[in-house]
Amino acid sequence: MSKVDVIIIGAGASGLFCAIEAARRGRQVVVLDHAASPGRKILASGGGRCNFSNYEVAPGHFLSANPHFCKSALSRYNQWNFLELIKEYKIRFTEREHGQLFCEQSASEILAMLLDQCQKSGVRIFTRQTITDVKRSEEGEFVVTANQSCYVATSLVIASGGLAMSNLGATDLGYTLAKKFGHTIISTRPGLVPLTFSASDKEILTPLTGIAIKATVTCRKESFTENLLFTHRGLSGPVILQISNYWQPGDPITIDLLPGCDLLEGLKVAQKAHPQRQLKSVLNEHLPKRLVLALLSDELISRPLQSLSYADFAVVQRHLQQWTLRPAGNEGYKSAEVTMGGVNTGEVSSKTMESRKVAGLYFVGEVLDVTGWLGGYNLQWAWSSGWCAGQYV
Ligand SMILES: Cc1cc2nc3c(=O)[nH]c(=O)nc-3n(C[C@H](O)[C@H](O)[C@H](O)COP(=O)(O)OP(=O)(O)OC[C@H]3O[C@@H](n4cnc5c(N)ncnc54)[C@H](O)[C@@H]3O)c2cc1C
Repeated sequence: MSKVDVIIIGAGASGLFCAIEAARRGRQVVVLDHAASPGRKILASGGGRCNFSNYEVAPGHFLSANPHFCKSALSRYNQWNFLELIKEYKIRFTEREHGQLFCEQSASEILAMLLDQCQKSGVRIFTRQTITDVKRSEEGEFVVTANQSCYVATSLVIASGGLAMSNLGATDLGYTLAKKFGHTIISTRPGLVPLTFSASDKEILTPLTGIAIKATVTCRKESFTENLLFTHRGLSGPVILQISNYWQPGDPITIDLLPGCDLLEGLKVAQKAHPQRQLKSVLNEHLPKRLVLALLSDELISRPLQSLSYADFAVVQRHLQQWTLRPAGNEGYKSAEVTMGGVNTGEVSSKTMESRKVAGLYFVGEVLDVTGWLGGYNLQWAWSSGWCAGQYV
C-alpha cells in the first residue's frame, strides 16, 4: 500500500498541470493513467502543433449548464500565466487568426515542458494502470486500486477527461466515479465534431467533397465565420466544429457562403455593367462552379443578367447566403475533439474544483460540464482548472 497526499487519475493536460502545482506546494502526488504514455491528446492537439491557448480567452467562449462556473478559474490562471511558462521554456509560438496560439514546432514541446515540471517537483507518474477500484475508507481517505497496487490519499483528483476519441485513451471512468460518489452528470454529447448530411442532401452534396470555402454558419442565434469543408459524409472545417457545440438534433443551420458580401447590390451593379453576361459567370468569380451548380438550377444560372428580375436576384441571394440545411447528425465521439456536458458544476466549487458532496474529491478539465470553443480554449480550461485544484488538494 502506497500512502501519498494526492492521487490524480489521468495524466492528460489537466491532471499533469494539477500534479505540478500540488507537488510544488510540497504535496506527495501520484498520477495514474491507463495509457502507455502520458499526454496523448496534447500530442495530437492542434494537428500536432498544439493550440495551447488563445489571446481572447473569456468566459463567453465556454459552454456549460452553469456559464458562471468557469469564470473564477479562468481569471486566476489565464492565458498570460500559461504564456509565461511557455516563454520560460523558450517554446516558440505563433498567433493564428482569432487569437489562437500554436507551437511553432511541435506539441511535443508542451508535453516535454509539463513532464519536466513534473519531474522537477517530484510528481510520480504511473502509466499502463488498470484502475479496478476507487473507494473512500471510513477515515475519509481515498483508496485506489490499480494493477493490484493500492494507493491511499486524502485528496483524489478526477482528471480522466471526456469520451472524445477512445483511440487516444478516452473512457467514461470520470463519469462513473462521479456518479459513484453521488454526483449528477449533465448529459454528454460529442462537441467540436463534423455534422452529417441527411440522405437526400447527401445525394446532391457529395459531389462537392473537398471544397473548402470561408462561410458564416448560424444555429440557435450563434454565428461563426471560418472555413467550411465539404466531406463525403457531410460538413466539417472549423466553422462547423464551432457551430456543432450549439447544434442539437433536428436543428437547421443557416449558411452564408459569401460572408460580408452584399450580393443583391453586387448583382444589380453587374447587371448594369454587363447585361449580357450569364449569371453563373458572375457567381463563379466568387464561388466554386460545382457549388453554384449544386445550389441553383442550371436554367437560372445560364440566363443573362438582363433577363433577371430583382425577385430572381433575391432567390439567388437566399440560396447562397441563407442556405438552410438540416444535418442528420454528427460523426460521434470517434471524430469529436471534446465532450459536451459532464460532471454537474453546481456540485463543485468553482474556486477549488472540490466536490461539494465529498470532501477531498476534485474534478478538473474536460470531465466537468465546461466546453470551450475551438481555438485553444479547451486546453486553457485544462490548465486553469488543474492549476486551481492544485492550490488546494
Ligand atoms: C484530436 C484532438 C485535438 C485537439 N486539439 C486541441 C487544441 O489544439 N487545443 C485545445 O484547446 N484543445 C484541443 N483538444 C481538446 C483537448 O485536448 C482536451 O479538451 C484536453 O486534453 C482535456 O484535458 P483533460 O486533462 O481533461 O483530459 P485528457 O487530456 O483527455 O486526459 C485524460 C487522461 O485520462 C486518461 N484516462 C482516461 N480514462 C482512464 C482510465 N479508465 N484509467 C486511467 N486513465 C484514464 C487518459 O489516458 C488521458 O491521459 C483536442 C482534442 C482532440 C481529441
